[in-house]
Amino acid sequence: MEKSRLGRTNLLVTRLGWGGIPIQRVNGEEAVSVIRAVIEMGVDLLDTARGYTNSEHRIGLALQKTDRSVILSTKSPVRTEKIYNEVQTSLKEMGVKNISIYHLHAVNHFQDYEKVMGTGGAYEGLRRARDEGLIDYIGITSHNLKVLERAIEDGYFDVIMACYSFLEPDAAEKVFPLAKARDIGILAMKPFSGGLIEEAGPALRFVLSTPDIVPIPGSESLEKARENWEIFTKGYSLTKKDKEYIEILRKEMSQQFCRRCDYCQPCSEKISIQHILGLKTIVRRFGSVTDELDWFQSLIEKARNCSECGDCLPRCPYELPIPKLIRENLAWYDQWLEENKKKRAQL
Ligand code: SF4
Ligand code: SF4
Repeated sequence: MEKSRLGRTNLLVTRLGWGGIPIQRVNGEEAVSVIRAVIEMGVDLLDTARGYTNSEHRIGLALQKTDRSVILSTKSPVRTEKIYNEVQTSLKEMGVKNISIYHLHAVNHFQDYEKVMGTGGAYEGLRRARDEGLIDYIGITSHNLKVLERAIEDGYFDVIMACYSFLEPDAAEKVFPLAKARDIGILAMKPFSGGLIEEAGPALRFVLSTPDIVPIPGSESLEKARENWEIFTKGYSLTKKDKEYIEILRKEMSQQFCRRCDYCQPCSEKISIQHILGLKTIVRRFGSVTDELDWFQSLIEKARNCSECGDCLPRCPYELPIPKLIRENLAWYDQWLEENKKKRAQL
């Protein structure tokens, strides 16, 4: 199976890593068995975060059940040197004495970047952890490619993590070549664009066809984990069908699509912004009974209360015009609802 050298860390990594977001959604026993299976399959880089609730802990439990060694990658959003305490919590949660890569998590704005790199900033905390041997390498994750370009140019990081999928391919233009030229390791997150891409084949074959990056798709079920592994091991040049699927989905999604990162939260009206911006996907998935679902009705009711206060706007790393998109999605939904009722009446 193909391995990739993770830049100047010199770590040799199986080219398919694993991401620890989805594992939060299943019960503990299932989570541990999926993580264990993923490791036994041959995945040797597991990525998680302090912010992914029980994910670090579950990884720790799975590690107790296998002899295979893995490269651990985790992250914290703490912006000051107190991130050092976060490193210690991560070590405790995962039951290990050392973590390979520790990232500054979601440094999406230059303001944050200045803070983490300044005196008393999080970078200093991670450097202390590295000097004490608690971690080996320091990484940075961001949804903002400009911030990543700056981080690469400044040269303090061993690894960067960027969003990359066929719906969000921009990192391949400048960020990846720049990182490669500086011998910085590249981890690629969100190969399914946060769930917007439903077919694993085209999604994974697309990211895997880009050399020198390690994608980290998550999986909460054995079935999903096996499917991803099979795609990886069977070779990944894009098929004609893949290309057609990619073209259709790219056309369907405008550039203004929500990546479901939830950075825009909290909303004072408790609107689940990512779900409202993804209304069409929900309606497609649940079909004609969507409007009868209680949780869906409550989602729509709350969205109708959007006061257009704009508090969410500066928090979205993609600069989406959230209130406008909420309005547009609700208008689309109302039209769908009317047509759906007419169809039902005719039955
Ligand atoms: S503009 Fe609407 S969605 Fe955004 S925070 Fe205000 S109420 Fe919530
Ligand atoms: S609106 Fe922006 S911040 Fe909120 S979930 Fe979508 S992409 Fe993320």
